[in-house]
Amino acid sequence: MGLFTKDIETLDDLFITKLQAIYYAEHEIAEALPKMREQATSPELRAGFEQHLTETEGQISRLERVFDMHGSEPRQTTCAAIDGIIKAGDTVAGNIADRDVLDAALTAAAQMVEHYEIAQYGTLIAWARELGREDCARLLDETLAEEKATDEKLTRLAESRINRRAETRAA
Ligand code: FE
Ligand code: FE
Repeated sequence: MGLFTKDIETLDDLFITKLQAIYYAEHEIAEALPKMREQATSPELRAGFEQHLTETEGQISRLERVFDMHGSEPRQTTCAAIDGIIKAGDTVAGNIADRDVLDAALTAAAQMVEHYEIAQYGTLIAWARELGREDCARLLDETLAEEKATDEKLTRLAESRINRRAETRAA
């Protein structure tokens, strides 16, 4: 469905279309996370992926509540952006033999996913408020907080990996 087809006329249509895209994306992410956890070496990174899988499952239910509040059926609309992000991460990780470098690639891939989600939820929250749906905005904001916390955790993991490597080299 093109962005300017007649299916989308109002901001409300646009809101629902984006909600369907993130609903699709969260399902794809829930499928990708166990594979990323299997590939990761660092116990912290593995635990992080595990925890975020649980959160992602909660986010899917939360989106279903938002659809329900809005009075629409939960529906997925394919999102080429998340497909590309997941595929790009997969392709890079699949070619790395060094476990530490692989962890770096997985962390970077995960951060691309989180940044995509932060952008999507940020827009959805702004549109929900514009549409006078503070109830939807509040729920979406709970998810946004989880995505941001995950992104920050990934940054900390990346930094500690870089420091660890620097120490190894200095020793
Ligand atoms: Fe998510
Ligand atoms: Fe996430």
